Amino acid sequence: MKLYIMIKKSNRQEIKNLAKELIFSSNGITRREIADKTGLDVRTCSSYVDELLKQGLICEKIPALNSAGRPPSLYCLNSGKLLFLGIVLRTESISSNLIDMDNNVVKESRESIGIEDESKLRVINRIFDIIDDCIRAFPDKRTAGICISVSRWLRPPLSFLDTFEEIAEIVFKRTGIAVFRELPINTITYSIREENNDVRNIVLFHPGKVIELGIMKNGIVPGNTLSLEHELSHTKAERSGELCYCGGNGCLEHYVTDAAVREMLSSIETEENKGILLEDGLERKLPGYRKLADKLSEYCCLAFEKLYKTYKPEILSYTGLLPEIWEKAVGKFNKTGKIKVKFICLGRVDTTYTAALTASYKAVKDFIR
Ligand SMILES: [Zn+2]
Repeated sequence: MKLYIMIKKSNRQEIKNLAKELIFSSNGITRREIADKTGLDVRTCSSYVDELLKQGLICEKIPALNSAGRPPSLYCLNSGKLLFLGIVLRTESISSNLIDMDNNVVKESRESIGIEDESKLRVINRIFDIIDDCIRAFPDKRTAGICISVSRWLRPPLSFLDTFEEIAEIVFKRTGIAVFRELPINTITYSIREENNDVRNIVLFHPGKVIELGIMKNGIVPGNTLSLEHELSHTKAERSGELCYCGGNGCLEHYVTDAAVREMLSSIETEENKGILLEDGLERKLPGYRKLADKLSEYCCLAFEKLYKTYKPEILSYTGLLPEIWEKAVGKFNKTGKIKVKFICLGRVDTTYTAALTASYKAVKDFIR
């Protein structure tokens, strides 16, 4: 009864999702059982089942005849046949990974691209070629989801135009396959989830050319991660720091990005240690370098605190700076109180693979209980 009331209040998409959950999580369920469990009439349920059959997401098991006639067909996930495609579009390359339900990469590609020199149509046709190649290579399998990960350098605010804003709609219209668009950093949260017992509250902090933030909340990437990044970037890190273009002063992004670290390094440069990298200066135990590393760890600790307070993640992941800076930052954070959060230092991540993984979650795994 409870379920019925919930459905009454919900929309068509939620009902479809519930039907998906019931079928994907079962070893075989009849149309009648789906109707009973959702409180919907059999005809409506049947139309959802037919839609999923058409998409190749589920398969039909026809039971053998018995004395009472033929029992009704059972439906379950077509897991052995499903493939998921991740495509990453960067300023200089376009790459793809095709994976199966067990995350094995069954096909991959990478080609150079000059995004500035090629027309939008040409780039889109390249994407279609990749998809067609994948479908042709596995004629008896079904590509059930595509994640197109468009580099942040091709999207505002870093790029003037959002040229590939409607790429998911364009590809869906042509292929009929469920298509998702996601930032590369957010696709990484899916691999953290996959490797950590389905943990669904994850934050990934990456100070690089800019401050990047990957977020997964209750298993879903929020739609406003760029504005959340902006908020973190303009958190006050130095009380009397330089005036920022945002109107504030001493903002975090002026202290932890690659360029900021380079500037701080050059400010402690002397005749003897000219051009020495941070890691080399630390290895030689040069005092100015150690002080800088300590300061950087303070900034990172501040970011951890802000991220923890805002999102209460179960996993706080980070990448980008030197391991010893992170170690110090984690140590400082842990001293602040009895907070339960798992820290994970990320190494190099293949975002083409994580894009494919994201497609598998958004199309199927998100609906398996
Ligand atoms: Zn600012």
